[in-house]
Amino acid sequence: MKIRHETKKLLSIEYIKIKSITGKEYFTDLYQDEIRSLMEEAGEKPFRGRQIFSWIHKKTTESIEDITELSEELRNWLKERAEISLLKVVKRTISKLDGTQKFLFELYDGNMIETVLMLNQDRKTVCVSSQAGCALNCTFCATGSMGFSRNLAAGEIIEQVLAVTRLTGARISNIVFMGMGEPFLNYHNVIKAANILNDQKGLDIGARHITISTAGINDKIEQYLTEKHKYKLAVSISAGTENLRRKLMPISRKYPLTKIRKTIRKNPGSGKPVTFEYVLMDGLNDTPEEISGLISLVRGLNAKVNLIPYNSHYKEFKTPPETRISEIAQMIHNAGVKVTVRRSSGSDIQAACGQLYSDVKYS
Ligand code: SF4
Repeated sequence: MKIRHETKKLLSIEYIKIKSITGKEYFTDLYQDEIRSLMEEAGEKPFRGRQIFSWIHKKTTESIEDITELSEELRNWLKERAEISLLKVVKRTISKLDGTQKFLFELYDGNMIETVLMLNQDRKTVCVSSQAGCALNCTFCATGSMGFSRNLAAGEIIEQVLAVTRLTGARISNIVFMGMGEPFLNYHNVIKAANILNDQKGLDIGARHITISTAGINDKIEQYLTEKHKYKLAVSISAGTENLRRKLMPISRKYPLTKIRKTIRKNPGSGKPVTFEYVLMDGLNDTPEEISGLISLVRGLNAKVNLIPYNSHYKEFKTPPETRISEIAQMIHNAGVKVTVRRSSGSDIQAACGQLYSDVKYS
């Protein structure tokens, strides 16, 4: 109970220090440099920090006992002060349609999150959650209806990837921050997680294979672009007019499309194009008015459009027919805007975009 109380106090704080809650250092949450400094404090040579980092992130070990390069004495010393793994696997579901896997993990305080592994011929992509629940309440998203519990620490985001690697043996090639939660409302921990996942001494996921997606938190988009992070940025739009967007994504009242466009236009960031994600819903945002609004928004920016046909899980929203999806893609292409259509994976196990929902909550 004490832990839950402490967690509540931390909801609004960006820097989550797991040690202050569990009493032990959480190694998965630390940069190489941070582990190195810890080793120096312990009177060890700094290279021990790099060794431990590689065991955790390259060999995906979950127990200090298994780090046999360290002396028994040092391992015992560390076991009293640190731990590597805090996630518990509660459930693993595999799609009969396409082999997509969905994992339900329990966090140290009883909150639950979901993570998805998508398998393509040349890519193994993990979709990670960045928050337990989500406060933004987008009307078409199952996570939004859960409400918000708390931000995840960087280590809790990274451990989703490590756990999926351990459980499946897959060599992960891509990461998308598109699971539960709004990544830019947990900015510090999301950037830290991306940096650690990108570290060559660890999982070494290339920066162009890491995508961070936001529902349009404009001041954080500005910060991200100004800081010139090298990861791909995706902005979820899902309407071409402010009117409809305010209905679908309430956060739009605070951050309208015009503001987001202005921010992206004046900030080239690291030079990578921004992807505008557009969840296509039949008879709602697939009208000529909405699509021309989308085209006007994107045209002239270093950006492209990714159309995501809606995965039906609420009766009021439907997937448009295939012919309509192709027509819309063609219309956007003809307007000189780059466009792709993303086929969602794992819709039979509620693992597709907008379907993540944990009905087990403890907070
Ligand atoms: S779409 Fe993303 S931002 Fe919107 S409610 Fe769902 S998880 Fe939150």
